[in-house]
Amino acid sequence: MAPTLLIVEDEQDISYVLKANFKKEGYNVLTAPSAEAGLKLARAHKPDIFILDITLPKMDGLELMQKLREETAAPVLFLTAKRDEIDRIVGLKLGADDYITKPFSIRELSLRVKAILRHMTGRPAAGKEKTTKLGDIEIDFERHEVKVHGASVSLAPKEFQILKLLVEADGKILSRDQLAQHLWGPEQGLEMDIRIVDQHIARLRKKLMTERDRIATVSNFGYQIKNPERVPVAAGAGRSAKKSR
Ligand code: CA
Repeated sequence: MAPTLLIVEDEQDISYVLKANFKKEGYNVLTAPSAEAGLKLARAHKPDIFILDITLPKMDGLELMQKLREETAAPVLFLTAKRDEIDRIVGLKLGADDYITKPFSIRELSLRVKAILRHMTGRPAAGKEKTTKLGDIEIDFERHEVKVHGASVSLAPKEFQILKLLVEADGKILSRDQLAQHLWGPEQGLEMDIRIVDQHIARLRKKLMTERDRIATVSNFGYQIKNPERVPVAAGAGRSAKKSR
């Protein structure tokens, strides 16, 4: 079934062009000129992905995302016009899946949407057993399911991907740059504000009810998963200093 996309944008010409383009590409497209109208459509149609403008007439796109996050884990891509809006996305720790800066090319936006949706389909990790246990955490990569103490936990797409990357790294340290490039692609990953990676990690830790020692921070470098049952952590592995950005 074609994925449903909800675009919330008050600039009619942008909204119109986006709608026409995504329809042509086979999506079900819904559009709303305000956050309030977008929220109603989101509740009625449960879109698979959201494209939200930040500057909207009353409630803005960031507030809208906060409301959406209480109801859905579907990915959100922000349209931003200014640098300070990116800072606000980062500052609010919303765990946005992506953002694109205006003016943007439709082709680029379309590729981003495709990439986000492709990651969401949750391809199973090749050659890995179906379920992985990390102490009290149980991860089913095929079904995209995570349980903590036997209870299901709902992870946003990027959070799931990060967990998957860290588990697959099997105790190896992944730098924030490496994580960003895996999550957003080689070029876009370099452009992304690296603090977004930290935020996804923070949310992941909270949802997994795990202490810092399970998903360990390697100061000024990156992250590493520690599994006392199966991952022997090699002392000093991968700790070579890396230039900070
Ligand atoms: Ca606007």
